[in-house]
Amino acid sequence: MEQIDWANLSFGYIKTDYNVRYNFRDGKWGELEISSSEYINLHMAATCLHYGQEAFEGMKAFRGKDGKIRIFRLEENAKRLQASCDGILMEKLPVEMYKEAVLKVVKLNERFVPPYESGASLYIRPLLIGTSAQVGVHPASEYTFIIFVTPVGPYFKGGFSCNPYVIFREFDRAAPLGTGIFKIGGNYAASLRANKKAHDMGYSSEFYLDAKEKKYIDECGAANFFGVKNNTYVTPLSSSVLPSITNKSLMVLAESMGLKVERRPVPEEELSTFEEAGACGTAAVISPIERIDDVENDKSYVISKDGKPGPVCTKLYNKLRAIQYGDEPDTYGWITIVE
Ligand SMILES: *Cc1c(COP(=O)(O)O)cnc(C)c1O
Repeated sequence: MEQIDWANLSFGYIKTDYNVRYNFRDGKWGELEISSSEYINLHMAATCLHYGQEAFEGMKAFRGKDGKIRIFRLEENAKRLQASCDGILMEKLPVEMYKEAVLKVVKLNERFVPPYESGASLYIRPLLIGTSAQVGVHPASEYTFIIFVTPVGPYFKGGFSCNPYVIFREFDRAAPLGTGIFKIGGNYAASLRANKKAHDMGYSSEFYLDAKEKKYIDECGAANFFGVKNNTYVTPLSSSVLPSITNKSLMVLAESMGLKVERRPVPEEELSTFEEAGACGTAAVISPIERIDDVENDKSYVISKDGKPGPVCTKLYNKLRAIQYGDEPDTYGWITIVE
């Protein structure tokens, strides 16, 4: 195998040895299949291609100092995929089958799990698609579930750092009673224009307000938002925010550190009151927010006065990473060790 420069990996795609697949046909899920092909043979009328019957997940496997490989919150991700299936009428994959597939694909690609010292990890991407041919708008009768993995670099190459974000009133990611709470490709298609515009303007990501009133904070691109003030962790309660497993974990850790946790609508103006804020998700764990510009209203909410991550964000980030890499004991049952 060509030598991988672990410390300089980006969040891209590198071919690994194997992927794993299940097919749902004739009303039942088949056996786990191991493939070394990066391609799928798909009918051109498959529902995933026309009507967006596609859901995915994102997880990471970490190699510890002890050499063991740890996967973070496997079962939660399996359950969230099931919720996405309910959301767009796809066949649900049983949690046990999901777990078996993840453990298998990581084990088969063990040599691609970056060494502990690199700060890199193995990204795990499960996806589920409707594959049967259909032209009328109906759910498919056949599905394919695939998991591939690819090593990804440390998110913060130059160390844990702050980024600027931008609010756009001209774009919505998801409707209040739409599919924002499901992890599906369709939501991402809807976010591409806003995301590109934010990047073109030099921002780390776009920031969405609630689609109905344009008053409350919804999501930070493809990450959840949280703010910290008066020893309280505040995160939006909204019917269009994706339930981030990182956010769910940070709420538990925040409480264990003695912070109060509030899940409630967060009005835009409240941004000016936060001592710290962050975007959270599997990719970065926490991406601390430097400032949020509301360009259409000519306003700027500066959150980090010195441009550096605050003490609460730093503590939460270090704690979660320590659990993921096995530097600290997993007292919550969040880790599955790959045997
Ligand atoms: C995946 C995702 C997140 C983060 O979820 P995690 O489980 O923490 O990785 C947040 N928002 C959106 C829209 C997502 O798709």
